Amino acid sequence: MDYKLKLKRVNIPTSELLDDLRMVSKKINKDSFPMDLYEKYGNFQRGVFKRRFGSWNNALNEAGLKILKRNNIPETELIDDLKRVAQKIGRKTFSMDLYENNGQFSRGIYKRRFGSWNNALSKAGFQIYKKMGTYNRMDANDEELFSNIAMVWEKLGKQPTQANLDSNISKFHSSKYKRRFGTYNNALIAFVKWAESGGKENIEIPNLKTEIFINESDKGHKTRRDINWRLRFLTMRRDNFKCKYCGRSPATDPLIILHVDHIKAWTNGGETILENLQTLCSKCNTGKSNL
Ligand SMILES: [Zn+2]
Repeated sequence: MDYKLKLKRVNIPTSELLDDLRMVSKKINKDSFPMDLYEKYGNFQRGVFKRRFGSWNNALNEAGLKILKRNNIPETELIDDLKRVAQKIGRKTFSMDLYENNGQFSRGIYKRRFGSWNNALSKAGFQIYKKMGTYNRMDANDEELFSNIAMVWEKLGKQPTQANLDSNISKFHSSKYKRRFGTYNNALIAFVKWAESGGKENIEIPNLKTEIFINESDKGHKTRRDINWRLRFLTMRRDNFKCKYCGRSPATDPLIILHVDHIKAWTNGGETILENLQTLCSKCNTGKSNL
């Protein structure tokens, strides 16, 4: 298969990072800008700069730009940023790590200003965050973790970013994948491997859920009617997450819901194999079955 993951680059040369800051500076015609603004126009993630230079201001400084003066950020601005992040990730409470991945300010500012992270959260009207708490305790197996990536990928119509996994469309948080696979990139690589292994046929260990749907018309088929996660993903990926009829995709229109459809109907003897499956949007799929 000629499919390639878009992986986060590692070991980007420092000069390239600095050039990118200067490029953005020219583009927006400002000699100083916050990380948020950078991410709109720049090629790299804010985390790379923090790790490489220690802080955003250090990075700006190294690039010959002006540092941001943020000593007197009003409390309301800090609270607003918490609210913005909560909305972005769709959660009522969150860790400092999660905040720093998505927010404008450092955790240190919140601790200094409010005494503790939880104080800041409650001041903003959010629930108190409990470490290793109820939110993430359930231990998921690889199959569950992978099918969640497939589900998010399907909904977006494109490769999910770490932030997508931290949002409320995902069942599991990206940190769960990092704990299991070391890095988010590794998790993606393992996921694609998992999808490709055994994705060709729809042979699964029978379980109670699918057993219920086996009826007389299943006789004579080599495969099961229901389409497993691997096949769904592989079908959509082959079809570029676009409807085969109208070409629409959730990647460009978030309201589009994709289905996987048997080209030769199951009831006419069509098998559940990649060659007999196609991606359709819900509208075209409904139209097809009404013919
Ligand atoms: Zn369509």
